[in-house]
Amino acid sequence: MELENTRIKIAGIEAESFVDGPGIRFAIFTQGCAHNCPGCQNPQTHDFEGGHYMSLTTILEMIEENPLLDGVTLSGGDPMYQAEALVPLAREVKERGLNLVIYTGFTYEHLMELVPEKPEFLELLSFADLMVDGPFVMALRCLNLKFRGSKNQRLIDVQASLTQGRAVLHQIQLDEMQEHPELFE
Ligand code: SF4
Repeated sequence: MELENTRIKIAGIEAESFVDGPGIRFAIFTQGCAHNCPGCQNPQTHDFEGGHYMSLTTILEMIEENPLLDGVTLSGGDPMYQAEALVPLAREVKERGLNLVIYTGFTYEHLMELVPEKPEFLELLSFADLMVDGPFVMALRCLNLKFRGSKNQRLIDVQASLTQGRAVLHQIQLDEMQEHPELFE
């Protein structure tokens, strides 16, 4: 898909976020999610018929307006449902020297299993630096974790994971485990 003429369905945008990954981030909340995690904080993002369309060129122009950004976050909803349309944006984000964080309700392992029928998953992940994976699980809810809401969710180093063929935890989570082992008991 080309950047021009491609639109995605979004629930909203946070042009300067400090909670959706490390540093200052442009966060895009895509519309549509089928995971139905009990206790989800954003149920209004579930309906695939909801939200509104926005062109990738408009989104990229908004990103370019802020020279202080460290990166872009794709959250939701679940951005993997629009993976194919997001690929051209992810490519442009990386070409501008920004890092890319993806939030998904799928686990890394499940996404990899789906790649044969959904090659766009791998294509999108090839541009990602950090992934927060897995559904929100109310019973494992924890307010003190960095960038995620429940203990099953991991901070995954996507590039290392793709190279090694397995989910590799990101240094941010490794540091967190060392500094706060009580959070992982
Ligand atoms: S994956 Fe995220 S948006 Fe989707 S139901 Fe779970 S917590 Fe909500």
